[in-house]
Amino acid sequence: MVDLHKQYLKIKPEIDQAIQTVIDSTEFIKGSAVKTFEENLAQYLNVKHVISCGNGTDALQLALMALNLKAQDEVIIPNFTFIATAEVVALLGLKPVFVDVNPKTFTICPEDIKKVITPKTKAIIPVHLFGQAAEMNEILSLALTNNLHIIEDTAQALGADYQLGEHIVQKLGTIGTVGCTSFFPSKNLGAFGDGGALFTNNDELAERIKMLANHGMKVKYYHEFVGINSRLDSIQAAILDVKLNYLDQYNKARQKVAKFYNKAFKSCEFLQIPQTSKYSSHTFHQYTLLVKKDRDKLKEHLLQKNIPSMIYFPVNMNNQKAFARKINKSQTFPVSDMLSKEVLSLPMHTELTNKQLEYIAENVLNFFK
Ligand SMILES: *Cc1c(COP(=O)(O)O)cnc(C)c1O
Repeated sequence: MVDLHKQYLKIKPEIDQAIQTVIDSTEFIKGSAVKTFEENLAQYLNVKHVISCGNGTDALQLALMALNLKAQDEVIIPNFTFIATAEVVALLGLKPVFVDVNPKTFTICPEDIKKVITPKTKAIIPVHLFGQAAEMNEILSLALTNNLHIIEDTAQALGADYQLGEHIVQKLGTIGTVGCTSFFPSKNLGAFGDGGALFTNNDELAERIKMLANHGMKVKYYHEFVGINSRLDSIQAAILDVKLNYLDQYNKARQKVAKFYNKAFKSCEFLQIPQTSKYSSHTFHQYTLLVKKDRDKLKEHLLQKNIPSMIYFPVNMNNQKAFARKINKSQTFPVSDMLSKEVLSLPMHTELTNKQLEYIAENVLNFFK
């Protein structure tokens, strides 16, 4: 699905140098590389504060912890997402409330959000799934009317732009109260291990998040609240700082792959190509088709031709055993149900060659002949 080795080889001297510099400094934890990367990412995103942490799941947890929510407060989440988004809500004793998604963009449906807002609702976590934005204009207005926080899960869409109103374009993750991302190796900006970050323009919130990620302290050994230990290490920060310079290039390479696939599959009656929304650029963390016939057999066929493909996601949040006791059983999710049966993600990364793409496309189309 990805080719991280080839991507590394292209920038090997720079990366190796960055790693060696950290080793020579022995500033492995909270070193200057971390500060430099946070500053450069803040500049890239045009946001006031970037706070790095251990991984994307921690980033989401820290965001929720920083908002001072009470037990059983309700947090609205798309039903079609990766478990991390929902898990942290449950873990903190908050109540995850699942909402169905838009059949075209696979992101949380604002109309359905309206239906589940109660006096206990305190936050919404829109997920910018597969690389494009949730409908932030509508979500912002709902949040404003109902006094809700917005935590943007930007783990799959770092670098994507959002058309906010008529004249403003903003990077995803910098629109809500706080944005979260992951630097898991296969993400659009991937480390050589785990990493994550939070973004906010709110000074006070940034301060709280920093303290929460560092055992609730500002002054060493004086703990103002119960926090966690979550940090990006200096070697990862140094690697990410090099790769940040290539992020736009990487995202463009992904868009080029998507364009190739779109052209190849758009007239196949059994496939629906990804729909790009008007208001967001698409960074194609995943290229996800809807397969209207024999999805699982197609997957098997591709595997036999040595082509990997993945089902993101086979089981929706409302059907996860982990949440069996937390959900409202009368709620239905027709779109996410359909998606879990039809989605198929094809190889998508920065190093795909035309020859590989042609081979993949040919074998997908041959299956339906
Ligand atoms: C990857 C991912 C996360 C979690 O990131 P980790 O760094 O693996 O903890 C959260 N949400 C979404 C949508 C993701 O894709």
